[in-house]
Amino acid sequence: MSKNKSSESVKVVVRCRPLNRKEESNGPAGCIVQMDLRLGQVILRNPRAPASEPQKTFTFDAVYDANSKQGDLYDESVRPLIDSVLAGFNGTIFAYGQTGTGKTYTMQGAWMDPEKRGVIPNAFDHIFTHISRSQSDKQYLVRASYLEIYLEEVLDLLDPNHGNARALELRESPESGVYVRDLTSCVCKSIKEIEEVMNVGNQARAVAATDMNEHSSRSHALFLITVECSQPGPDGRKHIRVGRLNLVDLAGSERQAKTGVQGERLKEAAKINLSLSALGNVISALADGRSGHVPYRDSKLTRLLQDSLGGNAKTVMVATLGPAPQHYDETLTTLRYANRAKNIQNQPRVNEDPKDALLREFQMEIARLRAQLNHRKWRTKQKKEQVDGEGWERDGDEETEGEEDEEEGVEKDAEEYVKLEEQRLEREKQDIREDQFMLAEEKQRLLGEKEKMMGVLRKEQEATEQLTAKYKAMESKLLVGGKNIIDHTNEQQKMLEGKRHEIAEQTRSEREIQQQMLVRDDETVELRETFTSLQQEVEAKTKKLKKCLKLYAKLQCIKAEIQDVNDEHVRSRQELEQTQNELTRELKFKYLIIENFIPPEEKNKIMNRLTFDPEEDQWKFQPLVPAESKSSSQMKKRPASAVGYKRPISQYARVAIVMGAHSRYRAENIMFLELDMTPPNSAALDRSTESEPNQSHSLDNSPTKDRRVRKSRSWCQTPKSITSSSSNVSLAACHTATPMTAQ
Ligand code: ADP
Ligand code: MG
Repeated sequence: MSKNKSSESVKVVVRCRPLNRKEESNGPAGCIVQMDLRLGQVILRNPRAPASEPQKTFTFDAVYDANSKQGDLYDESVRPLIDSVLAGFNGTIFAYGQTGTGKTYTMQGAWMDPEKRGVIPNAFDHIFTHISRSQSDKQYLVRASYLEIYLEEVLDLLDPNHGNARALELRESPESGVYVRDLTSCVCKSIKEIEEVMNVGNQARAVAATDMNEHSSRSHALFLITVECSQPGPDGRKHIRVGRLNLVDLAGSERQAKTGVQGERLKEAAKINLSLSALGNVISALADGRSGHVPYRDSKLTRLLQDSLGGNAKTVMVATLGPAPQHYDETLTTLRYANRAKNIQNQPRVNEDPKDALLREFQMEIARLRAQLNHRKWRTKQKKEQVDGEGWERDGDEETEGEEDEEEGVEKDAEEYVKLEEQRLEREKQDIREDQFMLAEEKQRLLGEKEKMMGVLRKEQEATEQLTAKYKAMESKLLVGGKNIIDHTNEQQKMLEGKRHEIAEQTRSEREIQQQMLVRDDETVELRETFTSLQQEVEAKTKKLKKCLKLYAKLQCIKAEIQDVNDEHVRSRQELEQTQNELTRELKFKYLIIENFIPPEEKNKIMNRLTFDPEEDQWKFQPLVPAESKSSSQMKKRPASAVGYKRPISQYARVAIVMGAHSRYRAENIMFLELDMTPPNSAALDRSTESEPNQSHSLDNSPTKDRRVRKSRSWCQTPKSITSSSSNVSLAACHTATPMTAQ
């Protein structure tokens, strides 16, 4: 790729986390990752390969091993980027790697522990400390937004209705590139406020447990900070610079099989993998430089990172690794991605005086409110002068002392005027009350007038107070340099920070020099070709041979790389095939439902309503009622037969309602009668014949049965119907259970 003057490559740093407890308990297989901090190299050992196979070495802008501190990473690799954002550049930091390798730890860390605070909280400190220490002629406005991409949908994490919120749309403008429409943006005045914004968003973020991480992030999270700075330029006018910072914590790049997920989680994993492979394709296309087309539109993630990869932003990629042998494949894939990303060239530029700067709007609104307020106060002052009729002595002395003092004077005058006016009206009211020559009616009228005047005065004062409150609220949102927002910043601390900064700079340049020396080493061999003696010739030839050997080793490395890339392709192809199979199965299932359960005319109706939205890249339903006819559409008229009723009813029902309920069934004593299942019994027959001669012969004589019969007779009046053939069974049972009764 051709490099022009202002282009700058994406900075890639690699971080390896310590072995976790689970990995330690798996046995003493040891780490597969070694790091040379001085040279910025990662050496990867293949645990499955024979010892003779050469280890793979990758060189990056910086590497951080298991013992690295959060502060080291920030000072060395992130601080320069945040400084650029404060100067008006766009900046992006994104963490990439397998689940559970420390992406969230690097980006957020443990907030409560100052040693373990990640990139994001450190960036908050950095931004607000910078503002507090800058010159007093600078004005700042800091805004924050927080979004996540979950199942390929952009969701606003600061929306109070996050759970039910609809997905947001991506838009593109020539001025600000790709942006999210209707995204919540909070103006933050302090570290505390911006931390609060972060907390609110974190609580809404989608996380779930997988086999590899108990709190795995199932979405890509983007925290966006916009810092606008206004400063008077050499032309005397105020110029605005806008720096946008994207802090990105990606979801894990693990293989689906490894995380042991199913169902909804598997669907999430498939989407995550698809968007990450889209990211990989974008990185490859940019690093390659030959292919004209960069597939940014393949996923929401790549569209949002369009500026950061190959655009006008400065970008730092933190690739995170796990040291355990069982994750060798993923570690190698991450390193290959990171290695490719090093070649991406961006063209960072300062955003100067953009049209959409919010700070400009704020400044204009504040100026408008101030003018309104001043106008009100001057008006009040002039009224006072009229009332006094003698002018103000103080005016002449103070007006010359500058705008601020003048304003203060006017404010005092206004307050004084209101107070004096109130006193004057009160006095006048008192005079009217005490006037004995005035008629009662006249008195009442005059007092009413005075009351009205007082009311007007109070209303005016209230309006002024409201205006002042609004003005002060607006003004407080603008941060002015030179005011110490953070109390603990003293000179010593400043010096300490400066020193740390210097050390970080030195380490970085030292590493760069070391890396350059390695490259030069190879080149110098060629230059020393002139030799005078045989001895020198032998030496030169030996060196050449060594070089050939080196080249041979390089060739072997490249061969191995090709093999790895092939393996990786096979794996990802298998995975894509698996995803495709899943999707095909689901599709077939849905077709089956449609064909068997949905009438063809309904299906056609639905099909006719579908349209493809190329902007959103998805199918959408057209509204049932066309938008323009919505207002004219009216409720359908009720049928004449339903007037007064919920629904149309029959003539008979209407008459019944008029007559009231039928009296015949009202007090009916309806009771439930079980079928009598007792068998006939001869002994009982005799006794029952004796006791009740007109009773049926098959009736039992037990007290219960007797009662039953009597009851039933009272209801149906037909004792004969009680005799039933099936009644024999229960009688026999009763009989054997109570032999005494049978005798
Ligand atoms: P990811 O976001 O990549 O899925 P996490 O950041 O959630 O992974 O890290 C997984 C676990 O590993 C966490 O418990 C975290 O504390 C720990 N961890 C990650 N990186 C480090 C590190 N550099 N030092 C100490 N612990 C770490
Ligand atoms: Mg995470």
